[in-house]
Amino acid sequence: MPSKPHGGRLINRVLEGRRKEYRLREAKELPFILLDDQEYRDLENISIGVYSPLSGFMVSEDLDSVLRDMRLSNDLPWTLPIILDISREELKRFKEGDEVALVYRGKIVGLLNVEEIYSYDKKIYVEKVFKTRDPAHPGVKRVLGYKELLVGGEIDLIDFYKDNFIDYHLTPKETRLLFRERGWKTIVGFQTRNAPHLGHEYVQKTALTFVDGLFINPVIGRKKKGDFKDKVILEAYKTLIKNYYPKNTVVLSIVRYEMRYAGPREAVHHAIMRKNFGCTHFIIGRDHAGVGNYYGPYEAQDIFFEFPDLGIIHLFFREFFYCRKCGGIANEKTCPHSMEDRVFISGTEIREDLRNGVLPPKEMMRPEVAKTILSMDNPFIE
Ligand SMILES: [Zn+2]
Repeated sequence: MPSKPHGGRLINRVLEGRRKEYRLREAKELPFILLDDQEYRDLENISIGVYSPLSGFMVSEDLDSVLRDMRLSNDLPWTLPIILDISREELKRFKEGDEVALVYRGKIVGLLNVEEIYSYDKKIYVEKVFKTRDPAHPGVKRVLGYKELLVGGEIDLIDFYKDNFIDYHLTPKETRLLFRERGWKTIVGFQTRNAPHLGHEYVQKTALTFVDGLFINPVIGRKKKGDFKDKVILEAYKTLIKNYYPKNTVVLSIVRYEMRYAGPREAVHHAIMRKNFGCTHFIIGRDHAGVGNYYGPYEAQDIFFEFPDLGIIHLFFREFFYCRKCGGIANEKTCPHSMEDRVFISGTEIREDLRNGVLPPKEMMRPEVAKTILSMDNPFIE
């Protein structure tokens, strides 16, 4: 059986059929809030249940509780604020108790019931979430740029923003159905923003040894210069799965989500998202969701001990490398040899080779995967 949704019930706030048409007509008469990419993606994830039990943007009681205790006000583990910011100027258009339309890229995509409009302390916010006030941290930088007020309340989704990944964009309801159809009782979730190298493959396969199925869930969202494009990551995974995984052991599906780079807190959030997709287990690697040197390499693993009631089993992994003496892929828990015997799998080196049109060493990346990437135009974000 796939795991129970976080909080016990899968949230569905997607309007359909005649109700959707009716509500859309109404929405056209309402004041509106413009959403940015992150806000739209959060709206989408609330509405399809990825963020269950959230049914809207957080009110102050929940935000305070999440910042202070890493739990919602009902005591359920929850580590990241899911909030909607507005300016005083926007506030002139509506008040508490009103309904507003949510607009993204020129289209009405949702509705918000304005339950509470409130102010917040950005310093406390960033210190709690990112454990630093350093404006050079990308997550801190973003929060410091938020507008001065927050608006909380329940949402409804009217329309999905259509992108090129629609065939690989399953909702938690759909993944749960798929896991059941396949008869999987245990499923391990893997979060990624990268084209797969051998280190990733060994982490996944080691986990897969103990469970029925593997759920590879790439994050589609804002990337930085030099990252693999979303389409490249997806195609690379398709090639890897086709050539190196037994049939029907993997489900590959994307999630649209904006990384916060909040390290430990975000690792727990990633686990909760995958629990909602139906995963019973979740993989946490070295410096999961980290950036720069803000977090210790295994801080994102240690935090899980604070949540015995999370409802998903954490699987911690050390970094894999190729060891000449072992004659294969190993990690520091399985290999006694010296650093000189080890070839570390370097994402930077792999990207460098690919940029020069060269196949990376086969100890680092499967040649089929590398060839798939090389066959694509401009695989990197410029
Ligand atoms: Zn060794």
